[in-house]
Amino acid sequence: MSSNIRIQRICEYCNNEFTARTTLTKYCSHTCNRRHYKTKIKQTKIDISNKETNSKVNSTTDRLKSKEFLTVEEVAVLLNCSKRTVYYHIKNGSINAINLGKRLTRVKRSSLDVLFDISGFS
Ligand SMILES: [Zn+2]
Repeated sequence: MSSNIRIQRICEYCNNEFTARTTLTKYCSHTCNRRHYKTKIKQTKIDISNKETNSKVNSTTDRLKSKEFLTVEEVAVLLNCSKRTVYYHIKNGSINAINLGKRLTRVKRSSLDVLFDISGFS
């Protein structure tokens, strides 16, 4: 349905003001329409990729959460910090760990929960 109305609008892609013939017009030109569409597709692809990365990270975290005893490396992944930081907290006693031997430090996962309770980060 054509009409004689003239509406001043701002193009959603280039932000230029233009005269639209319908209230539904979003772009000043076909070029902007197409470019914006492409941008949206690209953004969607980025979003999907980010979601995949997140779910991979989460599945690692979930796997570690179901373990009762963790290595220092796994604790670092779980807490998103460096191994050095984990060792530091083991040394100062805020993380309970047992040493089964050289390079065999194990941390009880529940002791991490305690850590979170104290710091209030949970
Ligand atoms: Zn435009």
